[in-house]
Amino acid sequence: MTFEELQKIVYDAGIVGAGGAGFPTHRKISDKVKQIIVNAAECEPLMMVDHHILEHHLQALVDTLNVLIDTMGADEAIIGIKGKNMHLLDTKIVASLEGTKVRIKEIPDIYPAGDEVVLTYETTGKIIPEGAIPVMVGVMVINVETVYNIHCAITNGQPVTQKYVTIGGDVDEDITVKVPVGMKIKALLEATGHGDLDGKAVINGGPMMGRLVDLENDSVTKTTKGLLIFPETHSIIQRKRMPISMTLKRASAACCNCTMCSDMCPRNLLGYNINVHKTVRAASHSEVTDSESFLQSALCCGCGVCTVIGCQQMLDPQKISMDVKGALGRKGLRRQNNQAPQQVRPERASRLVSSSVLIDRLGIRKYVKAHVERKYIDFAPNEVYIELKQHVGKPASATVKVGDTVKVGDVVAQTAYEDLGTTMHASIDGKVKAVTDRFVIIER
Ligand code: SF4
Ligand code: SF4
Repeated sequence: MTFEELQKIVYDAGIVGAGGAGFPTHRKISDKVKQIIVNAAECEPLMMVDHHILEHHLQALVDTLNVLIDTMGADEAIIGIKGKNMHLLDTKIVASLEGTKVRIKEIPDIYPAGDEVVLTYETTGKIIPEGAIPVMVGVMVINVETVYNIHCAITNGQPVTQKYVTIGGDVDEDITVKVPVGMKIKALLEATGHGDLDGKAVINGGPMMGRLVDLENDSVTKTTKGLLIFPETHSIIQRKRMPISMTLKRASAACCNCTMCSDMCPRNLLGYNINVHKTVRAASHSEVTDSESFLQSALCCGCGVCTVIGCQQMLDPQKISMDVKGALGRKGLRRQNNQAPQQVRPERASRLVSSSVLIDRLGIRKYVKAHVERKYIDFAPNEVYIELKQHVGKPASATVKVGDTVKVGDVVAQTAYEDLGTTMHASIDGKVKAVTDRFVIIER
């Protein structure tokens, strides 16, 4: 198979990064990749999807990595996993990797070990230059579930119609389930016994980077990794609910310019010229002439260490930085003076944030369960809402119309191959009920 053929298989299967923003995976497949790094860090607290796949599908992952290595002409694949999770790996399969091009690399139990800049450094010692993408240093970073989706596509021609999701937080039992893409989140929570949400809120994603769920409108997408339920009164929910206008007002009144947010920033510690305290100051005081303080937010990954660990004034530099980054992106404004980091800052070792400290700082220790149940539930939603934009790039355009009959796996929307985007498929058998500017809605 050529890498162009592999790209097409991955595009046709609608595979996007299953753990982050949903970057179309076929665009990462390149003959310039020398090292494939599998992001098995799962560094957001309470998330358990990758753990599940590593435990139950390791051989499929290894086989797929060998295909990727051969097809792209890469030198090796590295599975970056925390030492505390090594027990999840089948020891026989791990032993069989000796002398092969697939290796396991133990990474420290820190947050955000899964940020691609941090992960690349921890697994290879390379630092991705500011504003660059991993392939520029010969690296492809890929999520565990994404590798598994490639396995399903190349072995069975199976497109992405299902998604692994962890449901956890303030619940009796954490579970990981496989759900049809497009199932309403509200329906999913009801089907798993979490329908009573009085006084509670739901986050799509982890407590650090996840966003509040709109229960009436949101559905499961190809990037939904976890649904965490917390009391409305929890500081995580309060912080996420606070409007940006209030966040900026609080910062203008209470920021003492101590720089702790920047000092703890994982990307700053890897030598990036990102100083979020300057962004906070510029944005909260409307210092519009200080363009660099705004533009450096392009280097922010939104990890939230500045907010949860750095700031002692209970401000939210993460939200401000991401808001500025989003505004610049919408206006097409780019930072021009990106540099390769000069060196890792010597203080990095003493400022790494352990998962345990993070859990305590977030106030979620009581929600950490010793065991996460893997449940097989045959979800049969009466309708699914397939989002046209579940990925980075252009939204997909519907290829079906109201009244069309579709079966699981049929293409229902697509972004043109030459554009950045992907393909969407029906996740249940049924009829197209509606096509809106956000969804293709299929009724069983
Ligand atoms: S969210 Fe904060 S800590 Fe994380 S990269 Fe952005 S500025 Fe740095
Ligand atoms: S840590 Fe908080 S108070 Fe200090 S500079 Fe950053 S935002 Fe301001």
